[in-house]
Amino acid sequence: MIKDILTYLNGNFQRVNLVIDSDTGIIKNITKTTQLSEKADSDLILKYPNRAMALPGMIDVHVHFRDLNQKHKETIASGSQAAAAGGVTTAFDMPNKEPPITDKNNLRSLEKLISRDACIEVHPYLQLTAENSLTLEKYQWIKIYFGHTFGASEINETVIEEAFKTALLQLSSLTTENVTFTVHCEDPQLLVNKSQIIIENWDDFLKTNPTKLNEWRPKKAEVSAIKKIIMLIFNDKKIEKECSVPPSSKLKVHIAHLSTKEGLHIFLEAKEMQSKKNSISLSAEVTPHHLWFDQNSLKKLGVLGKVNPPLRMKSDVTSLRLALKNGQIPVVATDHAPHLLEEKKESAPSGMPGIETALPSLITLHRKGLLRMEQIVEVYSTNPARLMGIHQLGRGNISKGGVANLVIVDPKEEWKVRNDDIISKCGWTPFDGEILHGRPLITFCKGKIVFER
Ligand SMILES: [Zn+2]
Repeated sequence: MIKDILTYLNGNFQRVNLVIDSDTGIIKNITKTTQLSEKADSDLILKYPNRAMALPGMIDVHVHFRDLNQKHKETIASGSQAAAAGGVTTAFDMPNKEPPITDKNNLRSLEKLISRDACIEVHPYLQLTAENSLTLEKYQWIKIYFGHTFGASEINETVIEEAFKTALLQLSSLTTENVTFTVHCEDPQLLVNKSQIIIENWDDFLKTNPTKLNEWRPKKAEVSAIKKIIMLIFNDKKIEKECSVPPSSKLKVHIAHLSTKEGLHIFLEAKEMQSKKNSISLSAEVTPHHLWFDQNSLKKLGVLGKVNPPLRMKSDVTSLRLALKNGQIPVVATDHAPHLLEEKKESAPSGMPGIETALPSLITLHRKGLLRMEQIVEVYSTNPARLMGIHQLGRGNISKGGVANLVIVDPKEEWKVRNDDIISKCGWTPFDGEILHGRPLITFCKGKIVFER
């Protein structure tokens, strides 16, 4: 039993006792703090500082837990332990692995690995290809790399439309709660070709040329891809005509890592137009690093700050923060992308780790007055659960009879982040040296303690 703790229950905070059944992994009871005598219910009684809070376990819809042929960067085991340390109890793992997760066979092998090694709940994405777009049946979570070429085929509007039709047919059979397509939106035709960029020392180069990444991967590439995806969603009448199934809001299209104020603007406009009709639903996420750093941060971070889409301008950070505050961006996700420090320095792969610092960085924004604690739960737990169709199982909320996935934090506790404390195999964080608030004290997944300090 967790005694007398301020707990997030259906959108509000109340002081209660939480009785967890570690055998079944369920929250057996939630009692008033005046009813402290329920001793038979639990052997272990935990008590935390008065200002500590119990939140539903965080749900990260965008992580790269590597493994397979990239075990040196991260494994399902190390990634899930890092997640638990960050208060995350459910993570959705991206398919652009080595080898990529593009068919049922490698998907099943990954699922086996996950059930053996993960200490939290990990769900794999399947990667959309031209070959599998017609055979996605019975699969719920699909990643689209818009405009990229895999094998012989480009993932263009035609392929995506086929995938939408397959999903709508699947949804019409009523056996699936939802199908979620998460889309990487950068139009490759507007990016400078990698082969034209030859840099000897990336770290020095980016520290002295912090604006270059925005020249090579310009804002207009994000804007163009988002526009094309939204056009497809608004073309649902054509899709309906061709597959004889009406568009459904159970088909969800989710824009990954929104990074520009221009992209945000188009997303918000589309949402506004869409609210007037029942159609394919549209969602978007922002990463903690795009809420925290801008391109000037590269003067300090150098190659460690190289990420796709790149860190943008200060005005983009301001707009994204404001939209989050106003409830206009429904989801925060990390895009946790671990690479070793040596690899970053040598070949400059894009991506940065984030799963251990995401919740503390959001709590720090709360301490700065930008977000209410309730909003943090909404964007990093409740809304992601709905987006991925797992909210009926008790994820994204704390409730009697629901699964005991929860994290306890003290939002006022300060923490100086250090690379040495990072559990992820990569062993570093762009937040090294920063003061953050609210490092998790303990994390439960299905009633079991998966992290404690
Ligand atoms: Zn990613």
